[in-house]
Amino acid sequence: MSKISDLGEIIREFGPHLHDAPYDGWRADREIERMVPTHCPYCGMQCGLYLLVERGRVVGLEPRYDFPVNEGRLCPKGVTAYLQVHHPDRLLHPLIKRDGKFVRASWDEALDLVVARFREIQAKHGKDALAVYSGSSLTTEKTYLMGKFARVALGTRYVDYNGRLCMVSAAAANLKAFGVDRGSANPWSDIPLAEVLLIAGANCAETFPILNKFLWQQRDNGGRWIIVDPRQTPTARQGDIHLQLKPGTDVALANGLLHVIIEEGLTDDEFIADHTVGWDEVRSTVARYTPQVAAEITGVPAERIVAAARLYGRARTAMVFHARGIEHHSHGVNNALAYINLVLATGKIGAPGRGYGTITGQGNGQGGREHGQKADQLPGQRSISNPEHRRAICAVWGISEEDLPPAGVSVVEMFERMRRGEIRGLLSLCNNVMVSLPDTNTVRRTLEELDFYVCIDFFMSESARYADVVLPGTAWSEDEGVTTNGEGRVVKINRANDPPGEARHDWWIICEIARRLGRGKYFPFQSPRDIFEEIRLASRGGNADYYGMAWEKIEQNNGIFWPCPTPDHPGTPRMFEDHRFYHPDGRARFHAVEYEPPAETPDEEFPLILTTGRVVYQYLSGNQTRRIKFLVDQCPEPYVEIHPETARRLGIQDGERVRVRSRRGEGIFPALVTETIRPDTIFIPYHWPEPQAANLLTNPVLDPVSKIPEFKACAARIEKLKGGALPLYGATRKGASQSEA
Ligand code: SF4
Repeated sequence: MSKISDLGEIIREFGPHLHDAPYDGWRADREIERMVPTHCPYCGMQCGLYLLVERGRVVGLEPRYDFPVNEGRLCPKGVTAYLQVHHPDRLLHPLIKRDGKFVRASWDEALDLVVARFREIQAKHGKDALAVYSGSSLTTEKTYLMGKFARVALGTRYVDYNGRLCMVSAAAANLKAFGVDRGSANPWSDIPLAEVLLIAGANCAETFPILNKFLWQQRDNGGRWIIVDPRQTPTARQGDIHLQLKPGTDVALANGLLHVIIEEGLTDDEFIADHTVGWDEVRSTVARYTPQVAAEITGVPAERIVAAARLYGRARTAMVFHARGIEHHSHGVNNALAYINLVLATGKIGAPGRGYGTITGQGNGQGGREHGQKADQLPGQRSISNPEHRRAICAVWGISEEDLPPAGVSVVEMFERMRRGEIRGLLSLCNNVMVSLPDTNTVRRTLEELDFYVCIDFFMSESARYADVVLPGTAWSEDEGVTTNGEGRVVKINRANDPPGEARHDWWIICEIARRLGRGKYFPFQSPRDIFEEIRLASRGGNADYYGMAWEKIEQNNGIFWPCPTPDHPGTPRMFEDHRFYHPDGRARFHAVEYEPPAETPDEEFPLILTTGRVVYQYLSGNQTRRIKFLVDQCPEPYVEIHPETARRLGIQDGERVRVRSRRGEGIFPALVTETIRPDTIFIPYHWPEPQAANLLTNPVLDPVSKIPEFKACAARIEKLKGGALPLYGATRKGASQSEA
């Protein structure tokens, strides 16, 4: 039986409803009592802003000119972020589902039920019958707490985080190549110093908008861009060379580039000899990837591959950046390694304007994977499978080594175990699997079959609707702590207002559940600062060493880059300056990687490649941004981009609604006929739920190392609908009812 008796009623009560800035013209009586310096809750830029507080309420914001990342700039999401704080959809009291409907409950009632059901499930099915899954936009204090809660309060091995859907391929490649996982080896202030930027699978203009500040400074200095992307994105349109490859062929392209660089004598042989391992194997592998071979696989003309290789290889300074476009693949780690090979072969790392980085879509995507909420990890970026690392953390936590569970599995694998009945209960904090995981139909069935599902969130997400208990948590302005932006800079989030209604701080909720489970002595925290102090100790000596940081020091310096091992250490904006890497011998590792196609390739039944991504007006699963009227007005619903040639062949007009189908599901989307996409490829942005969820279609196949799903390539087809010629923007744009938004 469905866990929801009346979806319409849930939507009517909990939204999403649209909320706009209550504009009332000039307000002479406005009395801003405080301007709280903090950071945007959305992407990994973590732009600085002030929240304006009037009579205890957040009524607006101003960008911070003193924060060096954005220097007064904000994108459309950042400008409207404050509208989520007092949004009418905020969850205000605990809810327990009875007969398919949510009923208001007291905190005692809800928490007692959670603890009783957790105990019952574990008594019957063992400790690993419970799983914990949390977000990566949370403060690092909360992400640390979730990892500790799973292992110490519940004693389960099953904990993971939604950065699994984001940066894990890059993280795994960084660890393999450099022995450390810091998304960007350089501060972004290095970007303007590079003669050439090679940006692969990263539509910075939409997903990471304020990075453009640095990119345009580089252009102003005479810099050039090479863009690798199957779509002519707003970023690609600004590039000097656009390599518009077939989705999923990145290894062939990067190997082709390296082939040309070797042929033309553009490698840095001294750097290779002194600081790396594994070059010979890479050289012999890429020997097979002539420009012609790479062109055949990727669809990029050979002469463009040669031109791009020369531009990057001949530049004195150059930087490589990539993002989900190359990482969301069943070969995502290999894709990233292929680009790292380019960096190492040319020795362009560890100096101003010479560097490498991945770009982070989630606000705390970096910090969220440093301190133990990842299935295989312990605080300080330690490995849960390393006996020495286990010992270090058990000493901090005061538990015996036998009581620390082994590594768990990724979230997609956890859901498989839920389907098989091995995991019976789930505690989730601020994530939305009904939009963000691949293969939505299977995810929905899995949630419905769980014995017990608890959600902590501040809005009723599409996933929370399936929960047995919903606990109202806090928005970002109601708590304090730190996050780490995409360049490795730890910044301070400050509190501006109290949680509304009966909502409580997320960290309090978690500690209270632990206390009621009889594990309170391991969670004595009275504030996020207490948790941060424990992170300092737990990370000490690890790769991501925060020991030398203090909240005050972070604020005084506009952020501190890790590692920061001692209180007098200034932090480490640029990694590898001495060309020593984090492997025991100090050398970086090359990895010879061969091209392998995506798990699904087009065939007669499904002749197109579907790729997915983001738009500038929405953030991840849209649970926050789909409630803000200005953002919804700009992009009210998802669409499918189709090349004019493909549209002509199928008899489809711009704006017409079409059915897109894959082996897993289908959805109906307006067609956006555009020359910016390849004829063999279609694109759908993924921020919306069913029936228009891009993830109804995507393939849950995983990269074998990072366990990231293949969001960026699956086989699909487009079907014309009878009477489908409805306008793309129009009725849905201005006239959307609240429940449809
Ligand atoms: Fe927020 Fe990112 Fe936009 Fe900056 S670029 S305002 S951090 S969403």
